[in-house]
Formats: sequence, structure tokens, C-alpha cells
Amino acid sequence: MNRSEKLKKIHTKWFVDCDCKLRKSATRPVPGDGNPSAKIFFIGEAPGKKEDEGGTPFTGAAGKFLNEMLEMIHLKREDVYITNIVKYRPPDNRDPLPSEKEACRDWLLEEINFIKPKIIVFLGRHSMNDFFPDLKISDAHGKLIYKKLNGIKTKYFLPLYHPATALYNGNMRKVLIKDFKKILLDLKK
Ligand code: URA
Repeated sequence: MNRSEKLKKIHTKWFVDCDCKLRKSATRPVPGDGNPSAKIFFIGEAPGKKEDEGGTPFTGAAGKFLNEMLEMIHLKREDVYITNIVKYRPPDNRDPLPSEKEACRDWLLEEINFIKPKIIVFLGRHSMNDFFPDLKISDAHGKLIYKKLNGIKTKYFLPLYHPATALYNGNMRKVLIKDFKKILLDLKK
């Protein structure tokens, strides 16, 4: 079995085993997507409408902007891995509840530890706070963190603003693009 098939098997297992309550209201699960040997691993918050319809993370407006930023650093979606904290769309795109994040946590940890990326990039404060509850995104964005966390093989983390918050805010957009360009430098550490 190659790595893509092994990853698919992990997701298929969690389609059955994940007991997140959002399963009832969502159309389908939205597992992580991308290169099973990626060095860069992005974590967003939860699927939105478009993702719930299609089953792939970051395919709506925020995803389009994410693709543009990847192009700016000469990368494609196929080069990286993109997933969410929560694998099912919360109704009306509300924030996921702590119990919903908890229910999807082992799935996320299995994705991380299978892919073993060099760096985990948090897309937004929700995903950052899931790993670093005390950090504020306004202070932490664009600053590389080196830390050994329990149960996680990756030790480098980069918090970024969420692409959706920067979509319609020119200043935020500039900051996010500047921070995003640090990913390749941080990868060399
Ligand atoms: N926002 C997220 O955090 N994740 C998605 O998959 C889409 C939008």
C-alpha cells in the first residue's frame, strides 16, 4: 500500500469511528487533503458551505485566497497538506464547540503523525488556540514557535491570521501575505 492509500484508509476508518455530534447536521465529512508526504501542514477551523458540499477543505473564497498565497511562494495545493480541527460543518458556520473539537482531535493527531510535516501552519486563532490556548493571534501571527507537544511529532508551528478574516480587509491581507512568505524561510530551520 502506498502513502496515499494508507492515508485514505485512516480517513475511511475515522468516517466510521468519529462520533462528533456535527455528523447529524453536516452533509458529509471533510477530511484533510493534499500530499501525504507534505512538509507543510495547514490547519483551519471547520468546513464551510462549499466544503460541506464538495468534501474538500478550503474550496470556497478563503480557499481561493489560500491558493493565491501558495502560488506566491511557488507552491501548489498538491505540495502541501490542508485540514481542519473539526471535520464536519457546524450549522450556519458557527464556531465549533469544545466537545466537537475534542471529538475530532484524535483524527487530526493521526493525520499529523502519519504525515510528519516539518511545520504546522495554523490558519487562524481557533486552530492556534487548540494547541496553544494562551496565545493571542494579534501577538503570535508570523512568529515561528519551536515546542515539543505531547503526542505530536512536529515541533515547528507558525500561527497566521485566517484567510477569511483577511479577505475583505486590506491591511490584514497585507500582514497575512507577509507572514505567509515566511513559511519557506521557517522550513529551512
Ligand atoms: N475555513 C476553514 O477554516 N476551513 C475550511 O475548510 C474552509 C474555510
